[in-house]
Parts: sequence; C-alpha cells; structure tokens
Amino acid sequence: MGGTVPDGLAVEVTGNTWRMRGTDHVPIRCAALTGKVGEKAACAIYEWRPSPCRELEPGSFGCEKARARHGMAALEEGLV
Ligand code: SF4
Repeated sequence: MGGTVPDGLAVEVTGNTWRMRGTDHVPIRCAALTGKVGEKAACAIYEWRPSPCRELEPGSFGCEKARARHGMAALEEGLV
C-alpha cells in the first residue's frame, strides 16, 4: 500500500494503520525476524523495515522494555 514493507508481511489494522504479521500473536514474533532472540537474530527486511522499527533507538525505553520482555539484560552504557 505504498510503504516499504514487502507484501504479505504487513496486515491492515485500520485504513491508515498496519502492523507486522506475527505481532498480534503471543508470544509476539514479527514474521520478518530470523534467528533466536538473545542469541543471534536479524531482521530479514532490514532495508525495508517500517518506520517504527527505524525510529527505535538502541538503549531507548522501548528497546530496554523489549529486551526485558525476552529476559535480556539492559544494554551497557558505552555499547550503545
Ligand atoms: S526490525 Fe521491525 S520488521 Fe524487522 S524483524 Fe524487527 S520488528 Fe520485524
């Protein structure tokens, strides 16, 4: 629908709002995520990832909240 995310990986929520497929499941897992969180994971569509993913800064509140949800330690200052 004019965005950068490849067809099939985004699901319409409302007229102007979309979400990544898999992010409404429990446990949450984006359909574009490869690998194992906490070990070795990557975004399979990194160049085409949606704006919320581009805006999330390493070490930000949202980042640390997601790390905690997966049982990961907070990022050490200086590594961000
Ligand atoms: S960066 Fe965004 S699109 Fe890529 S795996 Fe993570 S949540 Fe999915």
